Amino acid sequence: MRILLTNDDGIFAPGLKVLEEIAAQFSDDVWICAPHEEQSGAGHSLSLNAPVRLHTHGPRRFSVTGTPTDSVTLALRTVLDSPPDLILSGVNRGANLGDDITYSGTVSAAIEGALAGIRSIGLSQVLDRNASHDQFDAAGAWGARAIAPLLDTPLPSRTLINVNFPPIAANKVAGIRAVRQGFHDYSRGSVVEGRDPRGLPYYWFGLHPIEHTLDHGTDLEAIDEGFVSVTPLQLDLTHHASLGALAERYT
Ligand code: MN
Repeated sequence: MRILLTNDDGIFAPGLKVLEEIAAQFSDDVWICAPHEEQSGAGHSLSLNAPVRLHTHGPRRFSVTGTPTDSVTLALRTVLDSPPDLILSGVNRGANLGDDITYSGTVSAAIEGALAGIRSIGLSQVLDRNASHDQFDAAGAWGARAIAPLLDTPLPSRTLINVNFPPIAANKVAGIRAVRQGFHDYSRGSVVEGRDPRGLPYYWFGLHPIEHTLDHGTDLEAIDEGFVSVTPLQLDLTHHASLGALAERYT
């Protein structure tokens, strides 16, 4: 089985090392093609107005001076001589829960894989900055257990899987739950304003925790209760229940 690894934290990120150890439990045909620098928050962006360069770091190890989507695209079209059977993106340093996913470069790399018809999984480690255990402890110990059933579960085309690991020590993890995507409230997210050395204003996003509701059966609730969350996602964002009513407004 050929596996392509990528992420949005960059080729030197500690989470990518964790992912390499997870992937090695399934295959020795593992390739890495990841952004050269951190691209967290890049979402599904594709570099259209700047050249993208491919750097070789060793056998089957490449970085791309672009986004996670650029990295998957270059891997599939230039780096690999035959497509991978599986794409793993992560392990992201931080949560990708609820409405995080459209901002997420980690999940978007998996979206790019799903668009190419390849089984794709995004993996993220929720962080507790005050914890004494290794930040990626849960991902390292539970990664293969979360992935194994996903390898032969039938999935329709244009779907992908989003996995999050709770911010607790591996021996405290309660298990793995298949759950739906929860809701964050990004509309109340704060923007911090400061002044640069020239006295000009600048703005900084994403400094404060995002408010959310722990609805039953969601990824947010599973993580809160100490479980690994596994959420199938679809690329069809159409709200089908509204389609009929809307169509009538245009007749
Ligand atoms: Mn990231």
